[in-house]
Amino acid sequence: MAGLYLHIPFCKRICAYCDFFKEVGTARMPVLTDAMHRELEHRREYLGEEPIRTRYFGGGTPSLCPPELLDGLLEHAARIFDCSHVEETTLEANPDDLSPAYLDALRRIGIDRLSIGIQSFDDDCLRLMNRRHNATQALQAVRDARNAGFENISVDLIFGIPGFGGDSLRRTLDRTLELGAEHISAYHLTIEPGTAFGRRAERGTFDPVDEEVSEAEFALVHETLTRAGFEHYEVSNFARPGCRARHNAAYWNGSKYLGIGPAAHSFDGRERHWNVASVERYINGEPPETETLSDRDRFNEYVMTRLRTAEGIDLRDAEARFGSERTDRLKKLASAWLQSGTVTFSDRHLNIPAPKMLLSDAVIETLFET
Ligand code: SF4
Repeated sequence: MAGLYLHIPFCKRICAYCDFFKEVGTARMPVLTDAMHRELEHRREYLGEEPIRTRYFGGGTPSLCPPELLDGLLEHAARIFDCSHVEETTLEANPDDLSPAYLDALRRIGIDRLSIGIQSFDDDCLRLMNRRHNATQALQAVRDARNAGFENISVDLIFGIPGFGGDSLRRTLDRTLELGAEHISAYHLTIEPGTAFGRRAERGTFDPVDEEVSEAEFALVHETLTRAGFEHYEVSNFARPGCRARHNAAYWNGSKYLGIGPAAHSFDGRERHWNVASVERYINGEPPETETLSDRDRFNEYVMTRLRTAEGIDLRDAEARFGSERTDRLKKLASAWLQSGTVTFSDRHLNIPAPKMLLSDAVIETLFET
């Protein structure tokens, strides 16, 4: 079973932390979706006979796209791929785009899951991030989505924002829980070069929170959400039982996926492909670049994605895929982390326990094969 990702790169304004591929303005939406239709045709053989299990509109801001254009893409995909087994169709949305009429239209075209970028319920924090919605709009968007019949709602949050930990973060978590969302993604802020925050950091007017604060906030998020019945199943992801994000799980499990649109990535089980990160060049038909993954790349990717999940690495599975030599080496390297409890080893599974997952990148780096 495969995943289909469709990238809508347009935004109304740029958030201070964002380094995703995006462009301001929506005037080129129809030209872009025409180009995406052409790409669907070109790549109709990409997944072979594999049926599509999940569809995902990401961005940018897909909720700026008129429903008829989204529907056209879904219909086109259904004509060229087997979409009879689709289990989940997600659209990333900004709260202030979700009018009742828009939500009804999304339901009618088959969107059954919303991933809403709320980020915080603190209006000062939202202003700092240059988000275009406020807390009241976020609450209303979730209520309206429920009224429109959405039963699978994910909320995105950001923590680790200087000046907005403590009570601000606590209030955001409490209000998120009051919404009754099925899924919560909580990301630690990263200050990336080229973003507004990055530029302020270069000027010395914006500093990242220090390590202890990061750890305390991660612990607060973990404890609050797991106490409320959420399963912390991946570094940044929490779900009510049975409500894990199926599309993202495909990336972590090494399943095939086809990415359509500028900057979208694809994986056919052997090679990775990525589209040009330019709307102009994408519309002009620039073909994707290709990278064939070596055994070492596949092994490192496997270690990285699995150790970021609650399930960790099943060493029997690792051995079957990569052989005993690589797996033994991995066990040996991981043993350096056993003493501190950062990595656990039981029943032939290597895990990073959820409360320590903030450290996962540092751990994983040491386990890579070079
Ligand atoms: S965070 Fe989302 S809405 Fe904000 S600029 Fe980035 S892609 Fe656009």
